[in-house]
Amino acid sequence: MSYIDLHVHSNASDGTLSPSQVVNLASQSGLSAIALTDHDTTAGITEALEAGNKLGVEVIPGIEVSSSFQGHEIHILGLFVDQDSPALQEALREFRLRRDRRNQEMLSRFETAGIHMTEAELQAGNPHTVITRAHVARVLEEKGYGTSRSQIFKKYLEYGGPFCPPKEYLPPSDVLAALLASDAFVALAHPFLYKLGDQKTFELISMLAGLGMKGLEVYHSSNNQLESAKLQEMAAKQNLLPTGGSDFHGSNKPDISIGTGRGGLRVSHLLLNDIKAAR
Ligand code: AMP
Ligand code: FE
Ligand code: FE
Ligand code: ZN
Repeated sequence: MSYIDLHVHSNASDGTLSPSQVVNLASQSGLSAIALTDHDTTAGITEALEAGNKLGVEVIPGIEVSSSFQGHEIHILGLFVDQDSPALQEALREFRLRRDRRNQEMLSRFETAGIHMTEAELQAGNPHTVITRAHVARVLEEKGYGTSRSQIFKKYLEYGGPFCPPKEYLPPSDVLAALLASDAFVALAHPFLYKLGDQKTFELISMLAGLGMKGLEVYHSSNNQLESAKLQEMAAKQNLLPTGGSDFHGSNKPDISIGTGRGGLRVSHLLLNDIKAAR
């Protein structure tokens, strides 16, 4: 049996390892395949593919993008994206533009409060990184504004708090259209992190399935066994294939390991075979 991880971040977005370091770690951890799913960018994929070729780890080009459902931010994964798709790159540019507007507003609020962060501090060595709240949290911690990331998020970075306006989201239909235009296999990421309750979660899943979503992230670091079992059932009801991944972010989420999550996660490569067969 070999294991895989279909939800992984690099420093192309809010992970702390470079794409090749991520693939190296996957190899050392005995994983046979990973999907690189950075937020709003495919910039890390080429480097990851090259490292994967060298090390014998299958790298699946992926992406994670944000949208909203009934006022809640949701995350949608695209696996096997074609990074050369003009429609996809156009959509990603638009997502990053909205993110940049949110970031500028957030940083100007920090500035007004006397908390100064430079571009270089936020980028941490990768000038092409997509800046997220995780970057801001790291800098705040480095500057001594809190002792843990979760404390910093609570105090400074929650939506509706004094510093962080939500991003402007495109509706799920636009997000699905962009991903499907690049031939992606689409799956809703970590469905229980949105705190919708079972019924609304299923409503969301059904709606996305109606738009062409084919997968559901049944296995994730944040799920307990009961939650994964519920998601398996919801996936089966909508004829969706289960996907699974850790949501590894390097030291930005130090409690999550690649492949195994918080310790109990195991995602079989058989899932990947089914996904490939369905494409
Ligand atoms: P953004 O897309 O800029 O809103 O940032 C989202 C990222 O912030 C997520 O992908 C996580 O990596 C991180 N994040 C959000 N909430 C928390 C939290 N409570 N604790 C730690 N990291 C968080
Ligand atoms: Fe993230
Ligand atoms: Fe996510
Ligand atoms: Zn993620």
